[in-house]
Amino acid sequence: MSVVTERPVVPSNEPTFRQSVDLMFNRAVALMDLPPGLEEKIRVCNATYTVRFGVRLRGKIQTFTGYRSVHSEHMEPVKGGIRFAPEVNQDEVEALAALMTYKCALVETPFGGSKGGLCVDPRQYDEHELEQITRRFAYELIKRDLINPSQNVPAPDMGTSEREMAWIADQYRRMHTTDINGNACVTGKPTNAGGIQGRTEATGRGVQYALREFFRHPDDKARAGLSGTLDGKRVVVQGLGNVGFHAAKFLQEEDGARITGIIERDGALFNPDGLDVQAVREWIVRHGGVTGYPDANHTADGAQVLEAECDILIPAALEGVINLGNAHNIKAPLIIEAANGPITAGADDILRERGVVIIPDMYANAGGVTVSYFEWVKNLSHIRFGRMQRRQEEARHELIVRELERLSDHLGDKWSMTPDFKARYLRGADELELVRSGLDDTMRTAYQSISEVWHSREDVSDLRTAAFIVAIGRVAASYRAKGL
Ligand code: GLU
Repeated sequence: MSVVTERPVVPSNEPTFRQSVDLMFNRAVALMDLPPGLEEKIRVCNATYTVRFGVRLRGKIQTFTGYRSVHSEHMEPVKGGIRFAPEVNQDEVEALAALMTYKCALVETPFGGSKGGLCVDPRQYDEHELEQITRRFAYELIKRDLINPSQNVPAPDMGTSEREMAWIADQYRRMHTTDINGNACVTGKPTNAGGIQGRTEATGRGVQYALREFFRHPDDKARAGLSGTLDGKRVVVQGLGNVGFHAAKFLQEEDGARITGIIERDGALFNPDGLDVQAVREWIVRHGGVTGYPDANHTADGAQVLEAECDILIPAALEGVINLGNAHNIKAPLIIEAANGPITAGADDILRERGVVIIPDMYANAGGVTVSYFEWVKNLSHIRFGRMQRRQEEARHELIVRELERLSDHLGDKWSMTPDFKARYLRGADELELVRSGLDDTMRTAYQSISEVWHSREDVSDLRTAAFIVAIGRVAASYRAKGL
């Protein structure tokens, strides 16, 4: 389960999350030449459904409030997670649904944007109670086709995980017993219940691939005053939930980055030599927070670490953590938004003026929905993912192995093919490898499309505006193609 991080105090002179997304949208759309009225059509949220339902728990009926917002149906199904958090509200789910529209367009997953939320603190309930609450919420949404394989496909988000997705899928199948595509009604399911390998790590993995791609572009690095590779770079991560944990772990273990700070709801850890991400995560799971973790310096004031010197800052929890109140103090030259909306529109202006490079949420955290798309396709095709590709790969590998065998005969004892090498080579790609390479390819291609706009247009000074321009352009093209 993702860790729910405490809500930041956003100064009251800031717009709401929804308004903040719209302000950023407006900045970009002002640089585009859309037909009259289309801009408004794309920006507005099509519909938000609010439901209040009761569940009998601990001897009394408790009433819960939930939302499912549909931002754009230019492609269907619409897609986006379901968030469980105590203060979820309509403004928030609408902002998140809008971001899903742009995110899906950017990574070319054929979905519109949606998002759901339930006002509940999952920490207050045991597993059985949470199952009752989730099934009841799912029932309300399924009944109205707000969960449906061809119309609206949720996924995990903050406070939910594969466990809740399995309950939702099962609930759908109970209500649609003859729908052969029932499993595709939700993504992020456990692998033994129709899920796909690599989905849980996908958003964090996508953050890693996004950073790798950024570091392959010398000019882009230079704009952030950075050079070289990720090896040794100092990274601060805010929120060690599913996304923050996987991003930090992969960057540390596979790219040699140094995780110098971790901020959680009960305080922050810092260590200039680097923190052991896996150990910190295990500590949080066991103790509910970072307090008492042995191998680091502690501070109760997360701001100290958020505003510390580092090369890369990864906000990976809630929206609005970087706002008018602290944007001036942020020292990182590069911020990658692993969370949705962690930088408010006002903070974005300040950081842009200060020359801070921001890799925007709609691109940076698109790994989750990208792998959700693979899962959805796998469910609809009813074939084990990669089976076809694997046959092709195997045939290709067979040819290469034969060539190598000939070569090893020729080379005699200078080189010979070990049975282990041959077996591994002939095995072909498995599901996890296919998912990771498909994700890598998606993240590279999407980055190139936004980087190109960033470099080629003088009126575009930042990656967020570039990303909006690419995404809005694709949504607009799809509306035009439909004749709207
Ligand atoms: N909740 C994730 C997001 O914000 C995943 C959405 C999905 O897979 O549909 O992108």
